[in-house]
Amino acid sequence: MNAVEDWLAAHEAEGIETLKAFCRIPSVSTDPAFADHIRAASGFVADRLAEAGFPAVEIIETGGHPVVLAEWCETPGAPTVLVYGHYDVQPPDPLDKWHTAPFEPEVRDDRLYARGVSDDKGPLLIPVLVARAFRATAGRLPINLKVIVEGEEESGSPHLDATVARLKDRLACDVVVSADGAMWRADLPSMTVASRGMVALEVTVEGAGKDLHSGRHGGTGPNPIRALVAMLASLHDAEGKVAVKGFADTATPPDPAIRDAIRSADFDPGGYFDGIGAARPDPLPSGEELLTRQWLIPTLEFNGISGGYQGAGTKTVIPASASAKITCRLVAGQEPAAVAAAITRHLERVLPTGYRLTVRRHGPGSRAFALDPGLPALRVAEDILGELLGAAPLRVAMGATIPIGDIFARHLGASIVFFSFSTSDEDYHAPNEFFRLSSFRTGLIAWSRLFERLGHG
Ligand SMILES: [Zn+2]
Repeated sequence: MNAVEDWLAAHEAEGIETLKAFCRIPSVSTDPAFADHIRAASGFVADRLAEAGFPAVEIIETGGHPVVLAEWCETPGAPTVLVYGHYDVQPPDPLDKWHTAPFEPEVRDDRLYARGVSDDKGPLLIPVLVARAFRATAGRLPINLKVIVEGEEESGSPHLDATVARLKDRLACDVVVSADGAMWRADLPSMTVASRGMVALEVTVEGAGKDLHSGRHGGTGPNPIRALVAMLASLHDAEGKVAVKGFADTATPPDPAIRDAIRSADFDPGGYFDGIGAARPDPLPSGEELLTRQWLIPTLEFNGISGGYQGAGTKTVIPASASAKITCRLVAGQEPAAVAAAITRHLERVLPTGYRLTVRRHGPGSRAFALDPGLPALRVAEDILGELLGAAPLRVAMGATIPIGDIFARHLGASIVFFSFSTSDEDYHAPNEFFRLSSFRTGLIAWSRLFERLGHG
């Protein structure tokens, strides 16, 4: 133990009270009815940062909910670390499923129950309290520290990209450490080192200039539903692999440690299909095969399809158009624009004569996030987790998309290390969200060692 860790242990009860106060603010970002509470939460974060000793703390407008930016850069020669987190939370609904009110935090069995406590108020408060412990004991930090806390993460961070671009000089840093994210499983320490990117498309095929009577024109008029489904079916081969030329040509190989994690993760394939309520395929793929597909293989999925009559009963119509919504999850090395172009070329090539094709993109998409396996801050973080959790963490990937990895890499040229002490079983986004107080205690020690070792690294 050292002075900082002693201080954190001695002030644990106070830290938990601060976390409870934070959780009493219903900072739901998606619903305008909570706008005052969002403001209150940004103010709460700014006050805690000022109290922790940050000489510069500012609430900055973004066009949506504000970000809180704090800077404490008084350690010449030491690296600059930017901490990311968010103060907004998911809506608490359905309210009747909560055992205690979502914004009246309560401790039961060494767990604190409240909306937002695990995602991300508990994990976010940890580095703030650690900064305060350094101020109280040493009067200074071992690193230069910046903190950015946004209020729109739970509604898709619509203003974060532009805000980071605008503030890029003030946010300049050597590495970003995210207090948001989650360990994959409670019994298995893990570090998220990769996640898939995304691109979204809408494909429309048009036939005749108007809807046609299927008796008078059936067999002669063009049917865009028939054309569309045949075109869509050609995007995968018989095994379900994407069959688009140029789709993954530029994909780069993953961190070999992720393959090790897949092997040691012991993923149960039968339980997986049972869990989603789908029939088990025969033969059943191995757990390794399923995790590889979720983490390391790019996908092309159909999310919606429409055309013609959708009401009750029948209507004898040949529709003038049909369309489908597609999203692709991308791996490292794939460019969203190039993937969209490859799919468009494929669809143009298989478009039957007599039809018109339109492919529209929704949003700019995002590249996959993949950490450099040799990043020193990653090694430091892994060592600390190994010491505190009793086992070296697995390097895991995520099938879903984490846009912040791409945002900070593009605007700041900085890698992001996920150092969150929430666990994915803590029911965030669901009723009875909780945060393990044991994770809170471990997180405080872990972040204090992270600051210390990044400073002396
Ligand atoms: Zn979060």
